[in-house]
Amino acid sequence: MWGGVGTGISCGVDSFYAVLKHFNSVYPSRNLTHLCIFNNGSINSCYGVENIPYIKQKVFERAEAVAKEFNLPLLKLESNFQDVVPQSHLRTHTYMDALAIYSLQKLWRTYYYSSTYSFADFSLQKNFDNDPAHFEPLLWDCFSTSKLKIISSGSEGDRNDKVDFIADNPIAQKYLHVCLKKATNCGWCPKCLRTLLALDAANKLDNFRECFNIDAYLKARNKAFVYLYNTIKKEPDQPFFAKTYKILYERHKNFFDNLSSKNK
Ligand SMILES: [Zn+2]
Repeated sequence: MWGGVGTGISCGVDSFYAVLKHFNSVYPSRNLTHLCIFNNGSINSCYGVENIPYIKQKVFERAEAVAKEFNLPLLKLESNFQDVVPQSHLRTHTYMDALAIYSLQKLWRTYYYSSTYSFADFSLQKNFDNDPAHFEPLLWDCFSTSKLKIISSGSEGDRNDKVDFIADNPIAQKYLHVCLKKATNCGWCPKCLRTLLALDAANKLDNFRECFNIDAYLKARNKAFVYLYNTIKKEPDQPFFAKTYKILYERHKNFFDNLSSKNK
């Protein structure tokens, strides 16, 4: 039945932002009617440590639990396209997700696709090689039709804004999962670290004790700060770290200034 409004629930920061923004919005006719989880290559390509079938099971179980919490039906889609036509997930993930959305085009009226980058980081440079997430707001408009509008959701803010937005929600606090290595958040991979640092900058670490080992982070916090400093030194405008560094630098000036003087 046409008229559905959907978005994905991978349980990362971007995904929770899109769900919370459109679950009970100021536009009731555009509120979510379904949540989705797609595996069209992402799970096979992204995870490296634990076995893939176990990770996949956990990703799907988590999505089911979150859909239940929001009292929305969950649509699960799996494709073997990536097995038959191997390709770079980084370069093709947006197009693969477009296939998944269009496989249910008789259902959707609106599909919110959670953005990775803010409008400030929109770029068409190196668009043959680069992550299409850099120009998704344009792609989704091109892929929309008179019957199905695909909307890039969340580009109005940066990652820190999204962390602020979701941080007080009990469902996000319970189910946030960003890890690239394990079925639970490992706390030390690049995505876990950047999320913990952003939560630290937002003063919201304690809200996420159920899905992160916050005490382990606090114990190794200096190492996390060194990682942040080194990342910013290499790329001062790095979209996922620049604002976090600015906030944490103001709070821990002496620590970062000491690092800076040691590196001169
Ligand atoms: Zn991790």
